[in-house]
Formats: sequence, structure tokens, C-alpha cells
Amino acid sequence: MTVIKHFIDGNLHEGSSQRKGKIFDPATGEQLTEVNLASKADIDLAVQKAKEAFNSWSKKPPAQRARVLFKFKELIERNSDELTKIIVSEHGKVYEDAKGSLTRGLEVVEFACGIPHLLKGEFTENVGTNVDSWSVRQPLGVCAGITPFNFPAMVPMWMFPMAIACGNTFVLKPSEKDPSCSIKLAQLFKEAGLPDGVFNVVNGDKEAVDSLLTNKDVAAISFVGSTPIAKYIYENAAKNEKRVQALGGAKNHCVVMPDCDLDQAVNGLMGAAYGSAGERCMAQSVAVAVGKVGNELVKKLAKKVEALKVGPGMDTNSEMGPLVTKEHLEKVKGYVDLGVKEGANLVVDGRNIKLQGYEKGFYIGGCLFDNVEKSMRIYKEEIFGPVLSVVRVEDFEAAIELINEHEFGNGTSIYTRDGDVGRTFANRIKVGMVGINIPIPVPVAYHSFGGWKRSLFGDQHMHGPEGVRFYTKLKTITSKWSSGLASDPNFIMPNLN
Ligand code: NAD
Repeated sequence: MTVIKHFIDGNLHEGSSQRKGKIFDPATGEQLTEVNLASKADIDLAVQKAKEAFNSWSKKPPAQRARVLFKFKELIERNSDELTKIIVSEHGKVYEDAKGSLTRGLEVVEFACGIPHLLKGEFTENVGTNVDSWSVRQPLGVCAGITPFNFPAMVPMWMFPMAIACGNTFVLKPSEKDPSCSIKLAQLFKEAGLPDGVFNVVNGDKEAVDSLLTNKDVAAISFVGSTPIAKYIYENAAKNEKRVQALGGAKNHCVVMPDCDLDQAVNGLMGAAYGSAGERCMAQSVAVAVGKVGNELVKKLAKKVEALKVGPGMDTNSEMGPLVTKEHLEKVKGYVDLGVKEGANLVVDGRNIKLQGYEKGFYIGGCLFDNVEKSMRIYKEEIFGPVLSVVRVEDFEAAIELINEHEFGNGTSIYTRDGDVGRTFANRIKVGMVGINIPIPVPVAYHSFGGWKRSLFGDQHMHGPEGVRFYTKLKTITSKWSSGLASDPNFIMPNLN
């Protein structure tokens, strides 16, 4: 059986640990490969190599760094089929969806190609007589990224292209469930001309993460994953004096107003709740039915959920693939059992789906609950599977209150034909990313991605302008170049006039 290695200082690297993780093909349930899980020594080596590479990479003019990114962009495009197949084979999502997620990552590389412009500072002539002042943004040093299983290309690409374009070097610790895509991206980046040591990938689990958190040469940590781990990362990175952004879990609500185009809302919800088998941090897992729309909404949804085509990700007929692992499948099924026990009405039950020829795959069909109450655990907790809960509320005010009271605040959307309702919703809702008649409001690469409340710990969102701010430090210089008489000593707060 092949073993997935690390990528350190421009080369594949065995690592020093004997510990290994198992990688499965979720479509068949068969084990595909093993992955080496890094020890502290492996992480320390990658950080050391990244530290050595920082010296020359950070000094390269941004235009030269951008040229490497342009080439990297070309190579991703040329290898997009292979990269997509890697995502499908280890994650399970359907091919076109996997390709779309790669494109979303590619768009961050495209944005990062504009780094000479993005790093332009600010200048003021004559802040005092013959005194000028300007601000520049400089790279931090070695940055680290820790990423989840559900977007093995896109989420790492929210981070490392921006960090590296800004002049930093990077150590990525991808999910140990689907790490191959990151290794392939590192190899392509090297082929694009990236110097050795600038981008390193170290596979691993908690031991690797803890080693990054305590390594004094790591300047900043970007994390995306579940909320308990995001909080742990935030607290421990801060304790070890690192800059940190830690994006966590979600429970996204989609408000369906009685005046909306119901077919548009139903189609939007189908893709947003069941696409990628619900394994998206922007999945809409709660439909908030306002007023009298509930019965019609549930009827239309049920018909479509029952007709969902579930199958292997490489089958072009599949609309929804399997879940990532057997453990995750059991967890999601457990939540459906719990919902029934809690008294919600299970309108469509996908628990017993069987696929001929794929009996051992990690499949579950779409599940739909009606009459879900806000006291229920299936409402409060993130399920991260193809399970949509319909909560019925009396009016728009109740919908806003419901969402604003929830502990998560990643994404939300509203379906309405009323512009005033849409605008009021966007203004009052305590959520980081908002859609109006848009089911999955993921910001494009030149805006920034991030939630509120317990969906993000830290101050800066990812990529876009916020990415440049996160991966650079601000420095402001004030200077005076004038001939003439030397000035007298000044013992008060200097007045530059
Ligand atoms: P996870 O939290 O289990 O793992 C994320 C990363 O943390 C992985 O690299 C993993 O190796 C590491 N990790 C896991 N347990 C750890 C521990 N005890 N100590 C240190 N490190 C640990 O998340 P996941 O299951 O891979 O991904 C799904 C979660 O990610 C969902 O909650 C989803 O909402 C969230 N997510 C959020 C966003 C966002 O933008 N907010 C985007 C994608 C995914």
C-alpha cells in the first residue's frame, strides 16, 4: 500500500514518526492509502526550513513573487482534472462540485497575482514642514495553516497563496482524512518556480497541531475546522504570542418569506442543504418558514429530497456523494435518530439507503425534518450531513430573533420579493455572510470570507483585503530631509509643524 508523505523544503519527506492514518475511498468504503502522521521533530524541521527560506523570499520584489503565482495559476488550470479526481477519491463529493471548489481556490491565486498593487502603502508629504510620513505592510515570517476535510483544495488555498504572495513562508497541516491534494499543490507550486522551503506540507493530527502552536518560530496561525478546535487554536496560539484567525462551525438559516418565488427558494435550498452531502460550512441546514409558507415549502422540498440521486462522486448522474468516513456517517445517522426521539417530524428518512455495488460506501440519503423546535439538539448543533430542519415561525421579526440568538453566525440567506425586507434583514442580522435570494453567499476571492459569533475567533476574515492585513504587519515611517540650522532639543511631545 502506498504511503502519503510530507513535503518539506521542496521534497517529499518520510518523516520520523511510525504513526500512520488510514485514507478511505468513501464511495466504496475501501482503504486507499496510509498517511504518515508527523512528530514534533517533523514539524520543527518544516518550520526551520520555512524560516531559512523566509530570508530571501521576503526580500523578493512583489512583482517577482507575483510571476511565480501566475505560473502556479496556469499549472492548476492544466492539472485541474487530476486535482479534482484526487478530491473526489478521498472526500467523496461529486466531480463537478469538487471542480467548482478547486476553481474557488484558484480565484484566490488569481487575486494574489495582484500583490504588487495590494501591498502599495500610503504616503503623506509634509505631515510637518519638510517632514514626510508613509506606511508599509511587511510580511510576518513563518505562517501556518491547519485545515478541515471538507474542502481539501479550497480552504488551504484561502490561506497559503495570500501568505506567500505577501512575502511569508508557509507550513500547511491539511486534514489527515484527505491530504493528497495539498501535496500535489505543493509540487505544482515548486514546478512554478517557488523556491524550496517557502511552502511545506506536513501531514498529521493533534501532535502536529500542538507542535505548530508551541513552535516559537511560527508567527501566525490560520485555522478552519470545528468550533471546539477553533477555540482551542485561538486560545493556545494567543498564549504563545501568535497572530491567529480561527474559523469554526456553523448552523446556517435560510429564511423563506411568504411572498418569495417558492420554486426558486426550494431549488436554492436543495443545492445548499444537500450539495456536498451537507459537508459545507456554508450549508443551509435550517429552513425558517415564515407565516403560512410552511406546508407548501415542506411538500415541495419532500418531493425533491426523495428524488435526490445519491451515488459515487465520479458518476456523472450523482447529485450527492457519500460522507467522508464511516465514523462521520454514524454520527450523522445518530443525529437523525436523535431528532426522531426529540419529537421532530422526519418527513424524508435517508438512513436506510443501499446502493448496488457500493454496499460498503459511506452513503446516507437526504433527510428532511419538519416542526423542529429551537430547544432541540438537532437545531442547536452542527450535524454536517444532508439533513435539513424546517423551523416554523410566525413572522419576519421571529425569524430574525431566532437567527440572532443562535451561537453560530457563519452564513444566512433570505428569499423574498420585497426589497425592504431584504435590506432590513441584511442590516439587522448578526451573521458574517448574508445572501438575498442567493442560497450560498460565499464571498468571491477579492472580498473576504468569515463568520461572526462562535463561527470565527479572531479579528480578520480570510483572503481578499482581510487576507493581506492578516499576513502583514503595518509599519509607519516619519522622516525629515532638510538642510539648514540644527533644531534645538525638544522635551515635549514633538509637534511636527
Ligand atoms: P476538525 O475540527 O475535526 O479538524 C480540523 C483540523 O483540526 C484538522 O486539520 C484536524 O487534524 C485538526 N484537529 C482535529 N482535532 C484536533 C485536536 N483535538 N487538537 C488539535 N487539532 C485537531 O474539523 P473537520 O471535521 O475536519 O471539518 C469540519 C468542520 O470544519 C465543520 O465544523 C465545519 O463547519 C468547519 N468548517 C468551517 C469553515 C468556515 O469557514 N467557518 C469552513 C470549512 C469547514
